[in-house]
Amino acid sequence: MRLSLLGKLLFAFLSIILTVAVPVVFLNWRTSTREVQRFVSEQERDQFITEMTAYYRVYRSWTGLPKSVERDFPNGPPGGRPAFSVLDTHGVLQLPLGPFRPGDRLPPDQFQPRTPLLVDNVLVGEVVTDNHTFALSASEQALLTHINRNLFLAIGGACLLALLLGALLARTFVRPIQQLMQATKALAQGALGQQVAVQTKDEIGDLARAFNQMSQDLARSTQLRRQMTADIAHELRNPLTVVAGYIEGMRDGVLAATPARLTVIYNEIEHLQHLVEDLRTLSLADAGELGLQPQPTPPALLLERVADRYQHQATQQQVTLEVAAPDALPFLLVDEERMVQVLSNLVGNALRYTPAGGKIYLTAQTTGDNITLVVQDTGTGIAAADLPHIFERFYRADHARQGDDGSSGLGLAIVKSLVEAHGGGIHVASTVGQGSAFTISIPRCKM
Ligand code: ADP
Repeated sequence: MRLSLLGKLLFAFLSIILTVAVPVVFLNWRTSTREVQRFVSEQERDQFITEMTAYYRVYRSWTGLPKSVERDFPNGPPGGRPAFSVLDTHGVLQLPLGPFRPGDRLPPDQFQPRTPLLVDNVLVGEVVTDNHTFALSASEQALLTHINRNLFLAIGGACLLALLLGALLARTFVRPIQQLMQATKALAQGALGQQVAVQTKDEIGDLARAFNQMSQDLARSTQLRRQMTADIAHELRNPLTVVAGYIEGMRDGVLAATPARLTVIYNEIEHLQHLVEDLRTLSLADAGELGLQPQPTPPALLLERVADRYQHQATQQQVTLEVAAPDALPFLLVDEERMVQVLSNLVGNALRYTPAGGKIYLTAQTTGDNITLVVQDTGTGIAAADLPHIFERFYRADHARQGDDGSSGLGLAIVKSLVEAHGGGIHVASTVGQGSAFTISIPRCKM
């Protein structure tokens, strides 16, 4: 049988309530019955003692007692009540009691405890009680039933209330779990971005929060994956169309295979190779499998290597490329080749967007526990609307420029992944018409 969580909780509550209530009811019922019996018995015994004491005070002996009692109770003592009798100081029974007759000696262990009978502080005998034949009168029984009924009602009411409160509590536990279950089912059926209300600050609230985060991440990564697949297809289409067009023309004899046309084909293939290499770097970074080999590296060395690489191109574009990095800076614990790749991407971009007469500065400095490397240019700058997106894959601020200059739109995404793989971060500040500054901060090498 499949019992719901609510059913299980209610069953648990009911079991606990019954485990507590049943013994309580039983014990109370027994105690109240015994107490009422004891109370009645004691009252009657006190009455009996008073009568016997009065009798002894008058006659100074127990000899005539049986006759006197016979006279007072011709029908015998009321049936079923506790029967009392008197033992004289020699232990001889004076009134019939159970199976014993007057004149019998009672076995010492029978009808205990016994109550001493004192007249003027002198022991004149003992009162013995036979509780075995004891039964309550109708009115006493009614009183006991009344007490017991109220007791049962009180305990039953408390159980019902406890069960009701338990059910309410169980519902508050179960409702968010049911919501989570529904959202999870919907998620499993492909409805991404499910969110549930976080109503409590306990473990269930934490679970709801974790679910919301997971669902949001899943939706985002699915969206990114779809976008990425579409972007890759888009990036591949242009060069492939160009290459296919030229080769088709040459195959059909419509176009001659001139060096210029072959160069176009070659450039497109090179662009494809570049794209594939970038994608590979990104996927390695995503999987955390870049295989970085961090070595203590002077920041100035990194900047100079990159500057050397681009100096010629900068001169040709009439752009000044300057490095400003104090030699005394602490070392960086980085993979030198990967960091050169990062800085090359940034300088390559800067050269692409900086017109003739502009400047590119490469600087390094210490900022707290970090070393910051800055690539600053006096180029076109980036519009504020594009700034939050430029590190996204395949994002190009200039939408018209679709990789026709060899760019893949993956450069900054790779830069960000590589910097983060080194435990660092990157941010950009830019003003349209004035230029951009990309600042990388990486923890300094502690040696
Ligand atoms: P791409 O390969 O197209 O350059 P990136 O990821 O390197 O792709 O850069 C993303 C976009 O950011 C670029 O298309 C460009 O619009 C903008 N960008 C990057 N660097 C600069 C810069 N130094 N100056 C102006 N715009 C820049």
